[in-house]
Amino acid sequence: MKSKTAIFPGSFNPFTRGHADIVARGLGLFDRIVIAIGCNAADAEAAAEAIRRLYADNPAVEVVVYSCLTVQLARQVGAGFILRGVRSVKDFEYERDLATVNMQLSGIESVILFSRPELSTLSSSLVRELDAYGEDVKPFLPDLP
Ligand code: ADP
Repeated sequence: MKSKTAIFPGSFNPFTRGHADIVARGLGLFDRIVIAIGCNAADAEAAAEAIRRLYADNPAVEVVVYSCLTVQLARQVGAGFILRGVRSVKDFEYERDLATVNMQLSGIESVILFSRPELSTLSSSLVRELDAYGEDVKPFLPDLP
C-alpha cells in the first residue's frame, strides 16, 4: 500500500495543545506527518528543536524548517497532502483561500480538521500575550512525553 505523508505547515510560535491535537488526529489519517515551520517564524530553529523533543518517540512525525513555498516543500518531502486546522469562521476563509491556491499550483489536496471546541479559542498569539504578562502558559502547551 502507498504510504501517505502530509505536511503540517505553520509558524508554531509556540506549538500549542491545539497544534498537537491536529497532529494526533492527523496520525489517524496519515502514515507520516512532517511539521513544517516557516523560516520567517521567530526562532524557527529553536521551535523545531522543541517540537522534535515532543515527538522524539514517534518516528511517524518529523519536523523541518523551510524557506520555500509550502507546495514546493510538499514535493521535496514526498507529501501528497497539506494538513491544517480550522477553529472558527475567521480561520475558514483564510484556509479555503490557501487550500485553493495550493490546489491550483500543485494539485496537492489540503485536509482541514476542525478544532475540538475546548481548543477553538487557543492560539499561539494568545499564548505569547499571556506569557509576556507573566501568566502561566503551561496549560496551553503540550506535555512532554
Ligand atoms: P499560520 O501562521 O500558518 O497560521 P499557525 O502556527 O498559527 O500557523 O497554525 C498552523 C495551523 O494550525 C493553522 O491551520 C491553524 O489554523 C491551526 N491551528 C492553530 N491553532 C489551532 C487550534 N487551537 N486548534 C486547531 N487548529 C489550530
